[in-house]
Amino acid sequence: MIQTCEICNEPISKNIHTLNGMNVCHSCFASLHKYLEGTIDPDSSTGFQIKMKHVVSDVLGDWRIISLPKYPYTLYSDLLGLLSIKTAKLSDTNKWLFDRENYNLIPDTYIFICLDEYKTIIERVFVIPENSPIFGKRGFTITNTDIGLERLKDYEVDADIFNEIYQNININELPEFRNRPTNISTTIDTKVYIAPSTF
Ligand SMILES: [Zn+2]
Repeated sequence: MIQTCEICNEPISKNIHTLNGMNVCHSCFASLHKYLEGTIDPDSSTGFQIKMKHVVSDVLGDWRIISLPKYPYTLYSDLLGLLSIKTAKLSDTNKWLFDRENYNLIPDTYIFICLDEYKTIIERVFVIPENSPIFGKRGFTITNTDIGLERLKDYEVDADIFNEIYQNININELPEFRNRPTNISTTIDTKVYIAPSTF
């Protein structure tokens, strides 16, 4: 009998893995085990994306996490379909620069989250269907000027709701971080920098 992966439903040809009691294929295990085991580093870029997924899902209310081949750990909303959440900080040239997805699967809706240059505040949020004519082929740029923002005003939503959740999110309550290694100190104030001796 051929086993099928309990996440992607593809047949498992070899190397059955167990993840949270499920039989899963190697590809799903490789892409998902850190999320499901809760060992993501919150300071990594993946950790930042996870925080943003929680912010968006808290705002939407309606959502679930699904995993598809080559598209792990993706938010799905009954209202907006498959979501791609893209974040960018404001660049030196006063623009937010975003990539498009380049995986096999195309999302239904992009959510573009525009942060300030230090990634401390969510300044603007745009919700744009994938088939919108305003997209370029590869990337998407939002210029932080009256003209640049006017062009996108039909897609802009209230960023304050997103930012309020972002400011108050408690990473200790997020399952993806629950078993993160604690031997890595994130505080630098107790460390003493010893300068290399000069000869
Ligand atoms: Zn799988």
